Amino acid sequence: MVLGDLGSKLVDALGKLQSSMLLDDGIINQVIKDICLALIQADVNIQQVNELRQSIKRSLDANAIAAGHNKRVLVRQAVVEALSKMFDPGHPPFQPKRGRTNIIMFVGLQGSGKTTTVAKYANFYKKKGFKCAVVCADTFRAGAFSQLQQNAAKVRVPFYGEQENKDPVAIALAGVRMFTEEGFDLIIVDTSGRHMQDTELFEEMKQVADAIHPNDIVFVMDSSIGQAAHDQALAFRQKVNITSVVVTKLDGHAKGGGALVAATQSPIVFLGVGEGFDQMELFNTHSFISRLLGMGDVQGLVAKMEEMDLEKKHPELIQNLTEGRFTYKDLRSVLETFMQAGSLTQMMDMMPGPVGKFFHDMQGGDAANADREGFLRLKGFMTIMDSMTEEELNSVKPLTATRVSRLARGSGQHSRMVQALIEAHKLFSRFGSQLKGLGINPAGDINPR
Ligand code: GDP
Repeated sequence: MVLGDLGSKLVDALGKLQSSMLLDDGIINQVIKDICLALIQADVNIQQVNELRQSIKRSLDANAIAAGHNKRVLVRQAVVEALSKMFDPGHPPFQPKRGRTNIIMFVGLQGSGKTTTVAKYANFYKKKGFKCAVVCADTFRAGAFSQLQQNAAKVRVPFYGEQENKDPVAIALAGVRMFTEEGFDLIIVDTSGRHMQDTELFEEMKQVADAIHPNDIVFVMDSSIGQAAHDQALAFRQKVNITSVVVTKLDGHAKGGGALVAATQSPIVFLGVGEGFDQMELFNTHSFISRLLGMGDVQGLVAKMEEMDLEKKHPELIQNLTEGRFTYKDLRSVLETFMQAGSLTQMMDMMPGPVGKFFHDMQGGDAANADREGFLRLKGFMTIMDSMTEEELNSVKPLTATRVSRLARGSGQHSRMVQALIEAHKLFSRFGSQLKGLGINPAGDINPR
């Protein structure tokens, strides 16, 4: 998962609250210490970690006055609040609107993942119904033209570039004019990647911005630089008005936490979580912290279900889920959706602890093949459900032992797999009851809490 290392350390630290019989100051201090250490190991700036420590202590002191409170809950709340504040960008990023021209200019250092993110961004908004197009104004790096052209073809959006022209300002202007006249909602302009010391390229970035007047300048930053993200963002901001930030490569870097905290001084809009064009997630502090602490991301999950039109495809599913009436047929629809989502890992990360853990275990320990392994097992589940009778599919109860052996025989799967399927069904049913508790209605909206 995103920042998996940091997440599991934080979860372990908070776990001590649960596992200790007597919650004295010694344990509480130890929990706070572990949390701070985990953040420092993720390369979060030490001063910010100290601020977090003080903020947790302050809120505990204040709450200690109000006797009768559950201490475990108080400490947990104080930690969640302090972490949320630490990861919160403070102000919302630019949001493009359909039905008007939105010009988005991408900037960043070479290798940060900028060109890949341009395609991810186009892909994301195209799925939301925007008419998107991309322009290559990177005349510096050989190969930039064909990379973006190919990326654009893969996500099926029109591309503009001039391979022989060396004037990025002229190309950017021509592309923006052409797509504006053609009525595109979202025109995404990729610019040359730079090195920090390259003043000429920084100047060029400013000229492009002055010429095309972007509605949003998106700064793409690689999370592996850790807390150095702060200085990098500052260097770019001194030249152009950065209005959004995308932090990339959060799928595999121990320093990601540091980069994210350092970058939160800018409005983070997306996180890059893999090389694939759909491996980019909207950044939302609440969802992010929930997932980081193993609490699942119900909002993210419902958004994903909506994005995939789950409600139209399986209208009864969300209703059943939220009414706590979850059949094997519903489980089949959910698992089908996971398989269509492309990334099982991404879906799993949104699940609350036990469900997420179940699927993670199912994927095996090999991170590189996790999705493939997980999909193979899911296919096994599908085969079992294909051999179920209509009565079994509509059942909300665990299957009896005789049915388990019959299904194993009928589907050619091991009975362990049938047991695992029953376990998955149980976990989802419980998750459904949680959704009910959160006040999620069948249309997928979340009532503000
Ligand atoms: P640019 O020079 O900034 O345009 O960078 P590219 O878009 O060419 O990306 C550089 C490398 O980073 C490529 O191999 C990308 O596939 C990879 N990359 C980009 N974003 C991500 C991400 O979020 N996660 C991972 N793991 N790799 C990424």
